[in-house]
Order: sequence, then C-alpha cells, then structure tokens
Amino acid sequence: MKILVTGGLGFIGSHVVVELQNEGFEVVIIDNLSNSSEDVLKGITAITGKQPLFEKLDLRDKPLVVDFFKKHHDILGVIHFAASKAVGESVDLPLLYYENNLNTLIYILQELQKKEASNIIFSSSCTVYGQADVLPITESAPIKPAESPYGNTKQIGEEIIKDTCKVSSNINAIALRYFNPIGAHESVKIGELPIGTPQNLIPFITQTGMGLREQLSVFGDDYPTEDGTCIRDYIHVVDLAKAHVAALKRLINGDNSGNYEVFNIGTGKGSSVIEVINAFEEVSGQKLNYKIVDKRAGDVIAAFADTTKANNVLGWKSELSLKDALLSAWKWEQEIRK
Ligand code: NAD
Repeated sequence: MKILVTGGLGFIGSHVVVELQNEGFEVVIIDNLSNSSEDVLKGITAITGKQPLFEKLDLRDKPLVVDFFKKHHDILGVIHFAASKAVGESVDLPLLYYENNLNTLIYILQELQKKEASNIIFSSSCTVYGQADVLPITESAPIKPAESPYGNTKQIGEEIIKDTCKVSSNINAIALRYFNPIGAHESVKIGELPIGTPQNLIPFITQTGMGLREQLSVFGDDYPTEDGTCIRDYIHVVDLAKAHVAALKRLINGDNSGNYEVFNIGTGKGSSVIEVINAFEEVSGQKLNYKIVDKRAGDVIAAFADTTKANNVLGWKSELSLKDALLSAWKWEQEIRK
C-alpha cells in the first residue's frame, strides 16, 4: 500500500501524509523544497511515530520522474499536491506556473499510463467556479474563465486528467476541488509556513495578532453580503486531509463510478471576513488591528460548497468548526515564533 505524495512537505500534503500513515499506508514523499522545509519530516514523524520515505526531487525534471517510478514500481496511488500556488505571482510569472503545475502533472500521468492499474488524486480548487450563479456550489456548476494563470492551471489540469482517463482505463482519478483550507494539526507540529507576505487571510490574521504585521487590510465592505465583506468556505486542513484518504480508499477499493470523478471539499458553510475576524478575536482573546481598504480585482463575492456529493458518495464530512481551525492556526503561529 505504497502511496506517492508529491508536495508532501507542503501545508496540505504534510497533513495528508499524517492521515495516510495513521491509516497504515506506506508513504513516499517527493518535494523540491521550493515552498517547504525538510524539517516538516520531523513534525510528521513526531506525530505518527513513523518517518515517511522522502526524495528531494524536482518533478519538472522528466528523466528523474521516470527513474523514480522505476525505482518505486510498487506505487499504488499518487496524491499530487506539488504546484506553485501564489495567485498574484502567477500573473507576473505565467510560464513558471504553467510549467510547474502542468508539466509535473503530465510527467506523472505518463508514468501512470505505463502501469497495469493506478490511482491519482489531484488538488483542484473552487476557483474553477469563479463567481458561481447559484450558492451553495455543486460540482455541476459551470466552470468560469480563470481569473489568473494559477487558476487556469487548475482548470487545465482537470482537463488533462479527464482526457487522459478517456483513453487510459488503467488510470483512476479523482479531482478534489478545495474551498479554503486553514488551520494546523492539533499537535502544532505541522501547519502552514507562508514565505514572505501571506497571500491568504488566516496567516495574515495570525501574523497581525502576533504583531509581525501592523494591520490587516480587509478588501471591500460594500459587497452584497450581510456585513459587506466577502464570504468563503473555510475548511480545517485536517478535515481536508481526511477527505483525501476517503477518496484514495474509494479508488483502491474500486468503488468509483467511472474513472474520473470530481468532488467539492468544503464545510458547506460560508463565513464573511468580518465573521472570521470576530471568531479569531474570540478564540485568541486578542483585538485585531484591521482597516477596510479598496476592493481587489478578481475577488468573488461569495463561494461556499454544496458538499452533498462528498458526504454521500465519499462518506466524508467535515467535523471541525471555524473556531477549531482558527484556534489551531493561532496556536501554530505562536509555536513557530517561539
Ligand atoms: P504548498 O506550497 O504548501 O505545498 C506544495 C509543495 O509542493 C511544496 O512543499 C513545494 O515545495 C512542492 N513543490 C512545488 N513544485 C514542485 C516541483 N516541481 N517538484 C517537487 N515539489 C514541488 O501548497 P499547499 O497549500 O499545500 O497546496 C497543495 C496543493 O493544493 C497545490 O496544488 C495547490 O495549488 C492546491 N490548492 C491549495 C489551496 C490552498 O489554499 N492552500 C487551495 C486550493 C488548491
């Protein structure tokens, strides 16, 4: 039961490795450490009592990918996280994003095509829906033109897998469309490690709470929502990690219907930026210094998941609350600043 986790030292990947090892899977991680540190291995080992195999490798290097699959010919499934993920950076460096997020996927699929049977889980995103016309968002909502090269790589990535599955019945794939992953493992031995200025709300909040940032900017308060701020579906990263295990088991057990499936992974509940700030202030006991600034281009007003398909078909449901996630993120921020 050997599973390859690409990007397994990153934020989501590391939490998935923990859940896989807890469920008895043998894990081999590939990561080039472009957005992570080898120290994450220590955290995973401390939590699970087992050190996963690790190969420092850049998946853009095709011959290395080919050699890796020859060496690890017994890989039963791949969970593919490795990608570049900064939306703003992708606008400035589109080719880096298309190369890193698409070539790596193609090289892996080419190796999986050679195998008698293989399983792959792909990290997609709710950004594929853009501003959906109907909320909550179901998997059948139309895909909207991407707002950034990063978002486009997720749409194209899904298309690449879908087209490959049409001609390769030996490949079984699931694309998971994540809503907004936040939080950290309760042990605070692994969590999110943003390099430079955080791109996402929660690390910005926790860094502001710690005094590392002077002020949080809230982009716009006149959206057509109850308090005027944008609404997102924040999902605890541990719940998200468990969804990967459920999806992988579905493929391994042959329970899938068709060899390409898509699931929304969220909580089903939308929270506004102001609600998140209030919840953070409550769990941390800290007042947060924030100000309302102009809207940002490309921000959708509201996005939250209809999780009926994941609940009924994967047998998975998010269990942890927004406050659980914020408290874990806050504890993690304090831990890494010690
Ligand atoms: P992350 O940056 O923390 O993890 C990605 C890991 O992949 C990093 O450890 C990085 O070093 C590694 N990596 C990148 N390029 C590589 C390459 N060419 N070869 C080997 N390793 C490489 O990101 P994350 O937040 O854990 O996201 C994981 C996946 O989920 C990504 O595909 C991301 O696009 C997707 N996703 C993330 C979010 C989110 O909000 N975090 C939302 C939707 C989808």
